[in-house]
Amino acid sequence: MALLSSFWSANQRLQKAVKNSPGMHAFEPDHAAVKLLQQALADTGILPSIKVDGIYGQQTAGAVSAVEARFNLGRDGGVAGQQVLGVLDILLQGGRLAAELAVLDLPLARTKVGAATAALTSFAKSRASGAALSSVTVAALRVHFRLSIAAPTIGITRQLTDADVTLILGTFNQVNGLLLAPANRMRSGVPVNGLATPAESPLNGPITFGPGYSDVDSHFTTRTGNNSRAAMVMHESVHVFDAQSGAVNIHIAESSPAYDLQSADLSLHNPSSYAAFAAHIALGRDPNPRFGGAPPGDAL
Ligand SMILES: [Zn+2]
Repeated sequence: MALLSSFWSANQRLQKAVKNSPGMHAFEPDHAAVKLLQQALADTGILPSIKVDGIYGQQTAGAVSAVEARFNLGRDGGVAGQQVLGVLDILLQGGRLAAELAVLDLPLARTKVGAATAALTSFAKSRASGAALSSVTVAALRVHFRLSIAAPTIGITRQLTDADVTLILGTFNQVNGLLLAPANRMRSGVPVNGLATPAESPLNGPITFGPGYSDVDSHFTTRTGNNSRAAMVMHESVHVFDAQSGAVNIHIAESSPAYDLQSADLSLHNPSSYAAFAAHIALGRDPNPRFGGAPPGDAL
């Protein structure tokens, strides 16, 4: 990985610094590289008044620390290394990242969760009254939860029960509650699983969005499209509420061949099943490739 913005990608000292070999700090002797860093801090609005003089002094170190504070990066006393330079590189490309971007993704995620809950509510009513069932909802339940309305004779699918519908609806209602009131439940930071992880969440949250959660290619990872970011927001929200959702036999990405072979009972706790089900309902069909935080659909 490397710095990608044409503003500074040709500078070899900065390309070394973004790999921490070594990072830049006070008394950095490469004044041309320091000037680019200072201009980047000015142009991205971190410190518009910064003196662009090539001297890495207190003012530059303070502006670097401001980047660390804004995105909750590792604090290392104003050293410009992979985290700070990688973040500035995203901003220089006009990109957005971390929780600042996730907040903008909430409306799309809410639209999809709203479509899913409306479809399931309607499905439950129709089932109770014997009315015709939506073919899209029937298909989405089979594809993402391996639940079928009739008793299957072959394959991994099992027959759906009222309890299944109640469980899925209950999870979507919890997710919707988080998406409507995300304060203190979403933060920027450095994921425990590493900088290549765009987002992660323990049970009860908060969801951490790393610098790799971005709408442009970056030092950390390739860009993730808006539909896939919405999928990540939904996925991480399920982790907040479901204690089983992180287990290795449950946590299977919607892009994995194993996803289609997961049993219904396991899929009912798979965060990707919820994200992909909602996307399927909102689109009226299963997206191909499916949206999600892993290739091949993550650019969508
Ligand atoms: Zn996950």
